[in-house]
Amino acid sequence: MMFSQRSQEITPFYVMELLEKAKELEKEGRNIIHLEVGEPNHDTPEVIKNAAIKAIKDNKTKYTHSQGLLELREAIAENYYQSYGVTISPERIIVTSGTSNALFLIFSLLLENKREVIIPKPYYACYPNYIRFLDGIPMTFDISEKNNYQYELPKIKEKINDHTAALLINSPSNPTGAIQSKEVFENLAELNIPIISDEIYQGLVYDEVSHSVLEFNSEAFIINGFSKLHAMTGWRLGYLIAPENAIRPMQKIQQNFYISANEFVQWAGIAALKNEKSFIPDMVQEYKERRDIALKSLKEIGLNISYTPQGAYYILIDVSRYTDDSMAFALDILQKTGVAVTPGLDFGVNDHIRITYANSKENLRAGIKKLGDYLASY
Ligand code: PMP
Repeated sequence: MMFSQRSQEITPFYVMELLEKAKELEKEGRNIIHLEVGEPNHDTPEVIKNAAIKAIKDNKTKYTHSQGLLELREAIAENYYQSYGVTISPERIIVTSGTSNALFLIFSLLLENKREVIIPKPYYACYPNYIRFLDGIPMTFDISEKNNYQYELPKIKEKINDHTAALLINSPSNPTGAIQSKEVFENLAELNIPIISDEIYQGLVYDEVSHSVLEFNSEAFIINGFSKLHAMTGWRLGYLIAPENAIRPMQKIQQNFYISANEFVQWAGIAALKNEKSFIPDMVQEYKERRDIALKSLKEIGLNISYTPQGAYYILIDVSRYTDDSMAFALDILQKTGVAVTPGLDFGVNDHIRITYANSKENLRAGIKKLGDYLASY
């Protein structure tokens, strides 16, 4: 049987491979501390679960409008207005099964014939794979810890040419935890190319204020979803916001490939946006405390981290002193200590690892201590 070249060329999402390995060890009876996968350890809040249960009982179990329930799109628009003061028509929104599908729709719209997408490096693992899969080319520009992972405009400008389809930005970021400053957003708005902004970690912000690209550029594409802030990873609910003329072609792709997002999950999404949200400040405070514990513990075991992550729930760690093969390193750490970390290979930086602090304080302390013992005898 002949398999397509693109199915053979796509690289794994390495963190998922590591998670699968960790689960195998758990099955064998090992106790594993999971600092690898970017998933909140909080349960989905009760109001959201109850809304889904009610929706199922009320038989809200059908296909919906391919762009998603109007009530949900109105709630999303209202949420952007409340958070950033920007006005969006619900007609400019498509609800998707996870932010991942929103990325697929946007890249399907913009890419063909090796058109290029400019992305910051380190990057979220899946970006280059979406781009290549849809016949585009990822063009990376470096961001560095020394510069608080801020985007430098000249580095982006260097990459712009006739084949450029878009610039993809991500703030707060996976894997760096960085937030781009207002000044960066203002500068980006002056570039004359489409901007796609992955805002999935919107709201998970600690000391600084985060911005949406829509405050500076009303023509930008946004992807966002419910996985992170609302602890709904497994529900698969996300959305995109796009310029008006981009909606119809993406709607056709959605109709053909996905039909619509799950109806009762969309009702749960409405509850997430409209109902009581008091759990969010408590959750954000808890993450902030975990971040501080994790940073302190990592420094105590001799790891050099100069940037204090401002959002999301990740710490990217330079381990070039120890390795330039982060996958082998992460597998060895897992095998010997029972601590699962993410190889930097996923993010284009093979001499780094990433940990997530979406885990309890006890697990963070215990996991980092084990990592310290491992490094001491490395
Ligand atoms: N973008 C980024 C930066 C992410 O970290 C993730 C999840 N790890 C996604 C998109 C995809 O999220 P989902 O499909 O669950 O909405």
